[in-house]
Amino acid sequence: MFWKLNRIQFPVYNLGPGKRLAIWVQGCHLGCEGCINPELWNENGGKNINIETLAAGILKIENAFDGLTITGGEPFEQYEALVAFCSYIKLKSSLNILVFTGFRMDELIGKFPDMLFSHALDYLVDGRFVRSLAESDNIKGSSNQNFYTFENGKYAVGNHLTFSGKWSLNVSKSNEVFMAGIPKKDDINALIAHLSGSGINLKFNDV
Ligand code: SF4
Repeated sequence: MFWKLNRIQFPVYNLGPGKRLAIWVQGCHLGCEGCINPELWNENGGKNINIETLAAGILKIENAFDGLTITGGEPFEQYEALVAFCSYIKLKSSLNILVFTGFRMDELIGKFPDMLFSHALDYLVDGRFVRSLAESDNIKGSSNQNFYTFENGKYAVGNHLTFSGKWSLNVSKSNEVFMAGIPKKDDINALIAHLSGSGINLKFNDV
């Protein structure tokens, strides 16, 4: 089974607790105004990755990590691959799994009544990003979003995870600069202003 992904990065310390491996899926049709990853909307971008090969590679290095984070893009727009990958990782490792989705929990339950995802994940942050509700938070992009925990297929609104919460700008092997983490309200404007003082014009893709 193939999974359309944009990038994989590790280690990441700002998308969940501890030292993590992060996966950005390709493709999202939700169109949130102010999305910081509009380059991930196009479902025809990214690369098709074989999930068996990916899972085998991650399991070889699992001891180096506390968990996996899956974000995007919209992970639930590739539901079968998401559930297959996460279920296998949970079966074979002790890695916890955190997923960021733009769908609300009630939408997920309506779209996927099998609720297989509730057995495959440990944590979920749900809901569209709403720019006017942007948070000074380090796990929710906007205050309408919720943080859930899963146990034995049951979900509950969880307490916030504690982690560094710092976000980072990263440079890929192909010299692309991308962000990992959830910037707090006004962080981006502060960064742009700071860099412009040094003659660097930073432009984020924005919609
Ligand atoms: S914020 Fe997330 S759900 Fe919203 S458009 Fe961007 S990738 Fe899609």
